[in-house]
Amino acid sequence: MSASTHSLDLPLILPSGPDCERCVTRLRSALEHVRGVAGASVDSATARLHVTFDPNLATLARIEQEAKRIGAEMAAQIDHQTIDLRDLDCPDCAASIEKAVTRLNGVLWAGANFAAAQIHVEYDRKLVSLRDICRTAEGHGVRACPIGGPLANREDCADTGSSWWRENRRSISLAVMAGLMAIAWFTPAPARIGLLALTTLVGALPTALAGFRALRARALDMNALMTLAVVGAAAVGDWWEAASVVALFSLGGLLQAGAMERTRRSIRGLMDLSPRTARVIRGGTMSDIPVERLLVDDTVLVKPGERIPVDGEILQGGSAINEAPITGESVPRDKSAGDEVFAGTLNGAAALHVRAVRAAKDTTLARILHRIEEAQAQRAPAQQLIDRFARIYTPLVVATAVLVAVIPPLAASFTVGFAGSWHAWFMKALALLIIACPCALVISTPVAIVTAIGSASRRGALIKGGVFLEELGRMKALLYDKTGTLTLGRFRLEEAVALDGRSESHVLAIAAAVESHSEHPLAAAFEEENHARNGHRHLKVEQFESLTGLGARAVVEGIEYSVGSAKMMESRGLSLEGVTDRIEALEAGGATVVVLADSTRPIALFALADTPREAAAAAIEELRSLGIAHQALVTGDNPRAAARVAESVGLTEWVASLLPEEKLAYVRDMQAKFGAIGMIGDGINDAPSLAAANVGIVMGAAGTDVAMETADIALMGDDLSRLPFLIRLSRRSSRIIRQNIGFSLATKLVLVGAAVTVGVPLWLAVAGDTGVSLLVTLNALRLRF
Ligand code: ADP
Ligand code: MG
Repeated sequence: MSASTHSLDLPLILPSGPDCERCVTRLRSALEHVRGVAGASVDSATARLHVTFDPNLATLARIEQEAKRIGAEMAAQIDHQTIDLRDLDCPDCAASIEKAVTRLNGVLWAGANFAAAQIHVEYDRKLVSLRDICRTAEGHGVRACPIGGPLANREDCADTGSSWWRENRRSISLAVMAGLMAIAWFTPAPARIGLLALTTLVGALPTALAGFRALRARALDMNALMTLAVVGAAAVGDWWEAASVVALFSLGGLLQAGAMERTRRSIRGLMDLSPRTARVIRGGTMSDIPVERLLVDDTVLVKPGERIPVDGEILQGGSAINEAPITGESVPRDKSAGDEVFAGTLNGAAALHVRAVRAAKDTTLARILHRIEEAQAQRAPAQQLIDRFARIYTPLVVATAVLVAVIPPLAASFTVGFAGSWHAWFMKALALLIIACPCALVISTPVAIVTAIGSASRRGALIKGGVFLEELGRMKALLYDKTGTLTLGRFRLEEAVALDGRSESHVLAIAAAVESHSEHPLAAAFEEENHARNGHRHLKVEQFESLTGLGARAVVEGIEYSVGSAKMMESRGLSLEGVTDRIEALEAGGATVVVLADSTRPIALFALADTPREAAAAAIEELRSLGIAHQALVTGDNPRAAARVAESVGLTEWVASLLPEEKLAYVRDMQAKFGAIGMIGDGINDAPSLAAANVGIVMGAAGTDVAMETADIALMGDDLSRLPFLIRLSRRSSRIIRQNIGFSLATKLVLVGAAVTVGVPLWLAVAGDTGVSLLVTLNALRLRF
C-alpha cells in the first residue's frame, strides 16, 4: 500500500543559538522515531526543518511536540484545528468538503471523517484564515464549528444555535412529502403532476443546492448525482419516480442521521463531562468562574458529588473518586491530600480543596479528546484502499450511465421500429447515476473505527488511529517492559551495604542526592529511605546527568558520583573487583542491585525490591489464549530480577541487562520473526522501543504527558486486563469492517449489473444505497457493547 506522504519546510527556533549541532542531531533522530515520519533534516544555518511524513500516521501536532521536547520551537505559522461539521449528512460530502478545503491556498493537509463529522486541518495561518476554511466547508451545507480556539463560540455553533427548526426540518419536510404523495395518489392526472412536482421540489431543493456546490468544487458527490437523476426523471415526465426517489432519499438520510448521531455521541459524551465553571477561592473569597479562566495554582472547592473541574492536586479533604471517564475503572478510588485528581472525574462524599496544576485546555480529559479527534481524521489502511477504489468507481459508473443512455438508442435509431426503447435506456442510465455513489462503501470502515475508538475510550484506552486498531488484532508477539509495567514500579530499599567504612546513612544520603533529580522509579525509593533516616538534610547537587537504562551521575558536594547498574559501572571502566560476589548474593533474592561509585571505585551497594502486579498473570494467560504466542519480558535490570518477575506473572521468556538500544534491537528481531508485534511500557525510558514496535502501548498514561503522547495506544489506568479487551475489540471491528465492505460492495455490483441489463427502478436504486448505508452503520454500532 503506497502511503500518502507530504513534505513540509518549517521555520524553527533552536534552543541555544542557530548553530547548536547537538540539538539538531537530537531533533532529527527524535523526529525519525515518530511513526509516520519518513525523513527529517534540519538546516541549522537557515533554522529550517524539513520533514516528510504520512499525515495518516503522524500529525503536525505530534512533530511540533517532539521538537518542543528537544527544546526547539516551531516558529511556523502552521496551525492545526479540528472542526466539527454539524448537519453533515451525506457520506461522501465529507470527501468533497475535504477536497474543497485541501484546494485552499495555505492548507497543508485536511482530513475529514464522516463518521465523526469532523475535519482536521493543518494550515498556514499567514496564507489562509480559519474563518475562510470554515466558510469553504459551510459552502457544502454544514455548520463548521472549530473545537476550542478563537472561533469556538461562533453564534452558529452555540448549543442554542441548533434550533427547533434545524432539528426537525428533515422530519417535517419528509412528512410534507408523504402527505403530498398520498394526496397525489387519489388525484387525477394534471393536478397530480403538480402535487408530485411540488413533492420533488420540497425534497430535492437542499440536495440540489449542495450538489451544485460540490460540482463547483469539481466533486461529483451523492447530492450532485441524486439531483441529476431527479432532474432526468422529471425531464422525461416520470414524476412518480422523481418524487419517490426524493422521498426515499430523505427518509434514508433521516434514519442515517439518527444512527450516526449515536456513533458520534459515544465520543461527545466525554466532552460534556467537564464542568464549565469552577468554584475558585482567591484572596479568601469564593466565586464561580468559567474553567477557561482558572489559573495554574488556583484553589478550587469541589463539593461532594460534583465533577472535578480541573486537573489538580488535593490540598485538603479525602474522598472516594470515580475516575471512570479517564481510566474506565468505575470502582471509586480513595484519594487524599497530595494525590492527583483529573478534570471530569466524580467526587465522592467529601468536599475537597484542589490546587489546579493544568489549564483547562490542557487537562488530561481535554488531551484525550483532542487525540481522539486526531485519530479520527487519520485513515486506516483499509479505508485508504476504499477511498482509492471510490475515486475510480464513481467516474466509471457515471461514464457507463452516459454510454447506456446514448449507445443503445443510437444503435436502435438505425434499426426501424425500435423507437420505444429510448425511454427505458434513459431510465437505466438514471438508475446508474444513483448507484454511482459509493456511499455505503466509504462509510463502511470509518463508522466501525470511530465506534471502536469511542468504545475503547470509555474503557480508559486511547487508540491513536485506525491503523493501530487494525495492527492490534494481527499482533502475534507482545513484549513487556518490567519496571512499572509488570511490577508496580514502587521500589523499597531492602539493604544498603557501605563498602569503604562510611556509614550506611551517609552513602544513602549521597545516592539519594544524585537520585533527587532522576525520574526513574528507583529514585523515589532512595529519597523515601533517606528521608526516613536522615530527615530533611539536603546535599548540594550539580551537573546531574541521566544515563537512560543504566543509571545517573552528578556532582554532590563537589565530588562526582555515579549510581546505576553493575553494567553501568563496567561500561564506565570502573572495576567491580572484590564486590561481584556480594552483588551476586544480593541479586540471588531477585532484587535490583544499584551500585554507588565515586570516580574511581564502588563505595556502596543497594538492594531494592519491587512488587509484581497482581492482575498481570491473568491478563498474560488470557492473551495467550487469544493467540499471542510469544510474550516476553525485556528489561535493563539483572537476569535474576528479571527471572523472578517473569516467573511470578507466568512468562516463560525474558531477556535482561539490555541497554535501551539493545531493547530496540530485540524489538526489531522479534518484528522480523513475528511480523506485527506490540511493546508495552511506561513510556518514560522505553520510548525508542515503543516507537519501533508496530503498536506501542503505554500504561498509566493519565497525568504523564510524555507517555500519553508517545504511545500508539495509551492505557489511562494501569490495568493490564484492558489488553485482552482491546485485542477482542480490534478483532471484532476487523470482522465488522470486512462484513461491511463485503456487503456494500456486493450490493453495489449486483445493482450495477442489474441496472445495465434488466434495469432497476429508481426507487430501488435509492433504497439499495441508503439502506445499505444504514445497515453498515447499525452493524458498526454493535461495537459499542
Ligand atoms: P527496565 O527495563 O526495568 O524498565 P531500565 O531500563 O529503566 O529498567 O533500567 C535498567 C537498570 O538500570 C535498572 O535496573 C537499574 O539497575 C539501572 N538504572 C536505571 N536508572 C537508574 C537510576 N536512576 N538509578 C539507579 N539505577 C538506575
Ligand atoms: Mg522502564
